[in-house]
This record gives sequence, C-alpha cells and structure tokens, in this order.
Amino acid sequence: MTYENALDTALQRLHDEGRYRTFIDIERRKGQFPHAVWRKPDGTEKDITVWCGNDYLGMGQHPVVLAAMHEALDATGAGSGGTRNISGTTVYHKRLEAELSDLHQKEAALVFSSAYIANDATLSTLKTIFPGLIIYSDKLNHASMIEGVRRGGGEKRIFRHNDVAHLRELLAADDPAAPKLIAFESIYSMDGDFGPIKEICDLAEEFGALTYLDEVHAVGMYGPRGAGVAERDGQMHRLDIINGTLGKAFGVFGGYIAASAKMVDAVRSYAPGFIFTTSLPPVVAAGAAASVKHLKTDQSIRDRHQAAAKMLKMRLKALGLPIIDHGSHIVPVHVGNPVHCKALSDMLLEQFGVYVQPINYPTVPKGTERLRFTPSPVHDSGMIDGLVKAMDKLWSRCALNRAEMSA
Ligand SMILES: *Cc1c(COP(=O)(O)O)cnc(C)c1O
Repeated sequence: MTYENALDTALQRLHDEGRYRTFIDIERRKGQFPHAVWRKPDGTEKDITVWCGNDYLGMGQHPVVLAAMHEALDATGAGSGGTRNISGTTVYHKRLEAELSDLHQKEAALVFSSAYIANDATLSTLKTIFPGLIIYSDKLNHASMIEGVRRGGGEKRIFRHNDVAHLRELLAADDPAAPKLIAFESIYSMDGDFGPIKEICDLAEEFGALTYLDEVHAVGMYGPRGAGVAERDGQMHRLDIINGTLGKAFGVFGGYIAASAKMVDAVRSYAPGFIFTTSLPPVVAAGAAASVKHLKTDQSIRDRHQAAAKMLKMRLKALGLPIIDHGSHIVPVHVGNPVHCKALSDMLLEQFGVYVQPINYPTVPKGTERLRFTPSPVHDSGMIDGLVKAMDKLWSRCALNRAEMSA
C-alpha cells in the first residue's frame, strides 16, 4: 500500500537523521513542582526533577491561579461553547484581555488559543490590513513567526540575528513609502540572549516602520510588573504590537497580542486564526487572568527566579562547563554533538532523576547541540546541588571538554 510506504519512508528519514522525537511521559504533582513522576515505557515509575519546563515561575501550581480556576469551573462549566463571535465571549475573556492591556499599557489586547496561533494569525493577516507591507524578520525568530510571515505571502526580508546594521541596510534599500514592520523577540529561548529592543525601535522610528515584539520568554519574569524586557528597559510604549504567552511563566495556557485599540480591532476582524475557532475555556481564561494579576505585584518571585538562574550558572561555570550565558534565566550547556547530547540526557534521567530534554538539530544548528536548563523559584539549592554534581560526574565519565565557550 503506497500510503503506508510513504508514512514509513517519512518516519524512517527522521530515525536515520537522528531526529525522531520520543516524548517522555511525565505526571506533574501539584504542590511538589518541579518534582514529577516519569512513567517509563516498561510500565515502571521513577521520581524525577523537571529541569527543562517552561513553567518558569511554578505558577502552574500557584494557589491563587488554582483557586480562580476552581471558582470559574464551578460557576460556568467546562468549555466556552463557541467562537468569540458566536456566544464564546464571556466575562472571563474580557477580564483577561483587560488584565493584559493594562500589563502592557496598551489600549487593548486580544487572546488567542496559543502564542503560536497569535503570532501566526497576526503576522499572516497584517498584509491584508496594510497593502504592500514589507516584513523584516530576525533570522532566529520562532517557527510561529516564520510561518505567519510566510503564509501572509507578502514581501519579507530576513536580517541576521540581532544585527541592527544589517536591518538598517535592508530598510534603507526599500521604498521609503512602503509600509514596513520589524518582527523580533525580546529573549531568544535557545541561547537565552536578548534582542536589541531600543536599537530596533530607533530604526523603526527612523524608517517609519511598525514594531512587533515576541515577549513569550519574558512575560511574567522581567520588568517591575512582569510585562517583559521592553518594560524593564523603558521601551514598552515604543512597540506597536507585543505578543505573549499564557502557557509559560504564567503557568496556564493561551496566547495574546497587546496593541492599540484600532490594531486589535483590525486583527480581531480579519484574522481567520482568531475568528474561526472556539475561544479559550473560561476556566483557562480565569486562571491566566489571576496569574497575570498576581505577577504584577509579586516581585519576590521574579527575584528568586533570577537568583536560582544565577546560582546554577555560577556553579556550572565553576566546574568549567561550557555554559552559554547572556544574563537571562535560561541556562544552556553546550555539548556540540547530537549523540553525546542524547546520551547525557538519557543518563541524567535514568541515573540521577534529572529530566532535561536534549536540544538537537533542527531546533538548533548542527554542532551546537545542547542541554537547556530552566531553573525556577521552586528549584531549591538542594536540587541545584544534585544537578551540578550529576553534571560533574557525567562530564568526566564522558570525557567532555571543559573549556569555556564564549557567549
Ligand atoms: C513557545 C513559543 C511560542 C508559542 O507559545 P505557545 O503559547 O506555547 O503557543 C511563541 N514564540 C516563542 C518565541 C516561543 O518560544
């Protein structure tokens, strides 16, 4: 059967290239994050510590979030029952959007099924709103932005990662009268490096371009109210559209954009990825709103988060492990070989109960394979100690290089 053969061929290709993905089946236990139970394929279980999650602040088990979700569940039931247009806009959605527009100090916000969808739906729709739009996109932008830009089908220019001189060249080469938009991220999650927000906003001003910033790996965690790196750097008012997720540091699920009332109204009215899909369950909207609200004032959790990241980086550096350090909360350890990377990850899990997924090509370029640790306020010093000792042992056992890699 030729369909069967095609499926076999497609799957075998992934196996041959060493990039077939196996999911680790884990059960997180509320109140005990980052501890979890790993359900092995052979039916046995093992207690593990999750070191690669994106629930960066442990908000997925925060009592304030859970209480809001319980309350909404009991008050309103399971699903929303419709698209936003047809019976699916509830007081919970409105409250969440008000919380988000206030967070980013924009006139409005619009919630989507996820930040992936928010990026894809918004970026693919802007060309309809701004005919002739040219999109300038950072080379390392997330797949959801690449996909949105591609599907929009308009003119696009890819600038070298964080290279404002290259971006300037591209902007200068185009018709000054053409509508333009620069799409980039505040923190690139694989290296944990920051986008040059101020410099890009300066260029946007100079060339009359709109700015679109993905703050997915920063919302909740940076800035005095958790609005992200643009808030921290005093640049938030200069961004035209800010994208964020409710599924990472906010610990729940969903995504959004925040922008002017007119921009949100236009995207709301034209983006198929917003219009033709069931809205978030009210329970999810309630939990997300509670989390966003809570993090506007809980600076101590942000401080503990940064402290945990600094501690882990310091300890790994002291061992001479090649960590990539750009000063963010993400701690990548460079391995540089897909087989070693996978083997280290397997040994950490099996022998030390440390769960960190290997990051291999195509997520990162070949030769830059890594383990990417995400310490959080719920990773205490004992857990950090356990991880550091495990890494030390394995690094020696595998005779891996300890030379510092420059960031
Ligand atoms: C995870 C991620 C997204 C998608 O967020 P979801 O809410 O999980 O869909 C978007 N942008 C970046 C940079 C991400 O890392």
